[in-house]
Amino acid sequence: MKKGKNWGFSTNSVHAGEIRYNEYGAITTPIVQTSTFIFKNIEEIKKLPKGMTGRYEYGRYGHPTQVAAEGKLAILEGAEGAVLFSSGMSAITTTLFSLLKAGDHIIITDDAYKRTLDFCKTCLGRFNIGCTVVKMCDYDAIKKAIKPNTRIFFSESPTNPYLNIMDLERLMRIFKGTGILVISDSTFATPYNQRPLEYGIDLVIHSATKYLGGHNDILSGVVLGRKKLTNVVREYLKITGGCIDPHPSYLLIRGLKTFELRMQRHNENGQKIAEFLENHPKVQRVYYPGLPSHPHYKVAKKQMKGFGGVVTFEVKNDVSYALKFMSRLKVINIGPSLGGVESLITHPATISYYAISKKERLALGIKDGLIRLAVGVENAKDLIADLDQALV
Ligand SMILES: *Cc1c(COP(=O)(O)O)cnc(C)c1O
Repeated sequence: MKKGKNWGFSTNSVHAGEIRYNEYGAITTPIVQTSTFIFKNIEEIKKLPKGMTGRYEYGRYGHPTQVAAEGKLAILEGAEGAVLFSSGMSAITTTLFSLLKAGDHIIITDDAYKRTLDFCKTCLGRFNIGCTVVKMCDYDAIKKAIKPNTRIFFSESPTNPYLNIMDLERLMRIFKGTGILVISDSTFATPYNQRPLEYGIDLVIHSATKYLGGHNDILSGVVLGRKKLTNVVREYLKITGGCIDPHPSYLLIRGLKTFELRMQRHNENGQKIAEFLENHPKVQRVYYPGLPSHPHYKVAKKQMKGFGGVVTFEVKNDVSYALKFMSRLKVINIGPSLGGVESLITHPATISYYAISKKERLALGIKDGLIRLAVGVENAKDLIADLDQALV
């Protein structure tokens, strides 16, 4: 496996994890599109009870394209181990199932990804695992929520849609030495902008569907951390079965080659567009951690290299104005998700929270005029012109 001790981020993005000279001499890592790996002869079968070293067995237990993608991600995150999944949610649910048992307790922050919250509150409850939801960044509440049976603290940073930033140093002062595992969904930050493992976070999770894949064309998730923990998760994946297929593994490797370049552009575009929106008379408020007006600007500056491509803002507090504004856009597409080369815009009230009552939605802070823009890697000037002509 290729790796260099002092390689820079882009050199690792391009080369790390892959085999220097594969058996075809192909510069790209092959898509080994197979569900099963056959035995050459009876001697190989006889080695079976001694373990599977040096060969593959069956797709759900791992395959060469997955191993290369995992190697690259581990090096980029600075992690000992990485386990890939078929989606971010599969990574999250399998990780929690593998580390919790009946009678345990988990603490999760209130603006975590909606499906993760659903899983912790509803599914885990059915297995007698208690869950306390605490307010994001309320460090006293986090401390108070700890019980003798607390096994995991789960949070995200930055969060969706308000881009709240957890102060990782302050967080770890609470959990250090407690034996409670701290897990951080770092999807919005990526290993380019934030390095949670360096603060002592136990496991980092990403929806690789977003910036890591980067092209709005695959679903994938990854869990990273010490091998002692990722091995437990990997064994559980073999049971729960949310494994990644060879083809998306290849697309992930391919997407990661330009990871640093894309992140630099996302960061640059995000900042420019946030500044443009903040000065626009039709925009009432902008939420972007790179703006001094963001409540967590100082923490963000301290612990992040850049602030990514997601910019949240409020237009007139009126659903029909918000939807008309989005429908006037010509470059930016309307749709959920983020982190891809194409810019996407969404109106959370109608696109993500349509199933709940308006009262519940407002209680979650999802106002009628709230817009989430996931800036891609297009030219900032074209995106700004597109937004400007639509904000009438
Ligand atoms: C998208 C997302 C997920 C879920 O990932 P999928 O790949 O869609 O399953 C989890 N957490 C965050 C923060 C996300 O943005």
